[in-house]
Amino acid sequence: MSAERFTGSFTQQEPIPEAGIAAALAVLRHGRLHRYNEAPGEVSETALLEEEFAALTGAKYCLAVASGGYALGCALRAAGLVPGEPVLTNAFTLAPVPGAIAAAGGRPVFVEVTEDLTLDFADLEAKTKATGARLLMLSHMRGHLCDMEALVQLCDRLGVILIEDCAHTMGAAWKGVASGRQGVVGCYSMQTYKHMNSGEGGFLISDNAEVMARAILLSGSYMLYGKHRAAPGPEVFAALRMDTPNVSGRMDNLRAAILRPQLPSLGERVARWAVLYQTLETGLQNTPGLRLVARPAEETYVGSSFQFLLPGWSDARIGLFLNRCIARGVELKWFGADEPVAFTSRYDHWRYAEAQSLPQTDRILKGLIDMRLPLTFSPQDVALIARIIRAEAESVGQGPEPAAIAAPRVE
Ligand SMILES: *Cc1c(COP(=O)(O)O)cnc(C)c1O
Repeated sequence: MSAERFTGSFTQQEPIPEAGIAAALAVLRHGRLHRYNEAPGEVSETALLEEEFAALTGAKYCLAVASGGYALGCALRAAGLVPGEPVLTNAFTLAPVPGAIAAAGGRPVFVEVTEDLTLDFADLEAKTKATGARLLMLSHMRGHLCDMEALVQLCDRLGVILIEDCAHTMGAAWKGVASGRQGVVGCYSMQTYKHMNSGEGGFLISDNAEVMARAILLSGSYMLYGKHRAAPGPEVFAALRMDTPNVSGRMDNLRAAILRPQLPSLGERVARWAVLYQTLETGLQNTPGLRLVARPAEETYVGSSFQFLLPGWSDARIGLFLNRCIARGVELKWFGADEPVAFTSRYDHWRYAEAQSLPQTDRILKGLIDMRLPLTFSPQDVALIARIIRAEAESVGQGPEPAAIAAPRVE
């Protein structure tokens, strides 16, 4: 019998809902794409989107911007980052996070991650004390939430301001509280591979009036901040408007029109992701040599990606395993590769940040495998993917030590 092969695409997302296409065409037809370009009596798609996302998350205020990375940098500046200041962040994250810190003038200080792929609290405390950092940009990388109640308490005790990068946790929650609501600011991305898709886009949410007013001014609102609806009143802006630079990064009405119809179905999509994730998890349970990441009961996660560990495997063995999987149509990414590949890179590849030593994170990332789970996959697709990974992990894991080979380069 020939080996099973998977033929689906790991990068193919679902189409934009018809309502979003119709709304986008309406914007194109009237031509008022700029968020502050409104006909008399009209409220822009962007202002409505912000109101609706604030309502969805329970936040007082919301600002839509041009990208997730822009949201992160804007949040740091709005929270008072001064140039040269250290900013704590997890060592396991994606390039836009340290990039946003550096672009805002901060110095990334990496904090170790645990075997569960969440922030190591002991190292957070040690790094805070060693650097005197006041800001933590916590990336909920690949959707893994740490104990958010314990983290908020720790941040309060250390006097650290928490900003959340929720690029992978839009729709997730800790003990029922929406991800992004524990920090002073929560930031999201609507880039194609995230949980809502407008190609590019980002949100900031906050309950803090001054921080949000600064973010709105920073985003490039000129003196039109009065057109925002999910925003603090004009008195809050009065004290800040002449002292806050305009760093254009606005959302436009075309993207907002595409996004608005995606909000009501977020819960339904999160439920479908859970089925895919759990199908894969079940299919990989008790595979020798392969460790799954436990998900705490307090966490409502969004299974838009899946991670597992191959602890103690040599680079050559992992390379052979990845090659065998890709030969059968299963595209896996590896955080242990020496060279950065496509979206996957590691803290020691970000050379603009000071060189730092994180032995625990090094050990974990060395065996960390990652994959996307787009909603265009069916549960049957995912069950097939699990059978392929399981068979190759068993065969390569228990086979002889292979000669060194290059890992595949996947997008
Ligand atoms: C995608 C992503 C962002 C934001 O990226 P943009 O491409 O700028 O929208 C931030 N953090 C993480 C972890 C991400 O994956």
